[in-house]
Amino acid sequence: ALPVLAVVGRPNVGKSTLVNRILGRREAVVEDTPGVTRDRVSYPAEWAGRDFTLVDTGGWEVDVAGIESKVAEQAEVAIALADAVVFVVDAQVGATASDERVVELLRRAGKPVVLCANKVDGPAGEADASYLWALGLGEPRAVSALHGRGLGDMLDAVLDVL
Ligand code: GDP
Ligand code: MG
Repeated sequence: ALPVLAVVGRPNVGKSTLVNRILGRREAVVEDTPGVTRDRVSYPAEWAGRDFTLVDTGGWEVDVAGIESKVAEQAEVAIALADAVVFVVDAQVGATASDERVVELLRRAGKPVVLCANKVDGPAGEADASYLWALGLGEPRAVSALHGRGLGDMLDAVLDVL
């Protein structure tokens, strides 16, 4: 079977935009409303001659009572089934409590993780990405899923661990 790469992170950080960018076509549903991707959706993908299965997930948000939603459960299942994970954070927003929850879960899962600092649309955003070193997941890979900036370098890091 092909290796499985799961894309996880909070709603609205740009997971589906990133998935479309990797696929080179618009298949994953992108919405301005957070939490649109409610289920795990798998796509056959290829990068630099390597075939893999790319999994888009719903977001991860802790509700007011501090309990993760059903959407979060899907992300948890996706992590369990994955060989490697791209953890997407909105670099313009920075790390939130929900992001910290996912980091905790990723640590427990023990899967290789590449930290994608998304929404770095230009050089001015690079500083935002560097704050994400604090998550303890290694080098934040600055990416603009919207424009494709930094995508190649990020995916090269992914292929190293997939
Ligand atoms: P998801 O909920 O994590 O799947 O996020 P989406 O892919 O649906 O994107 C949520 C919103 O963020 C949409 O309005 C996207 O156009 C926007 N977005 C995604 N990636 C980027 C990016 O790299 N830069 C900017 N400026 N906006 C982005
Ligand atoms: Mg989505």
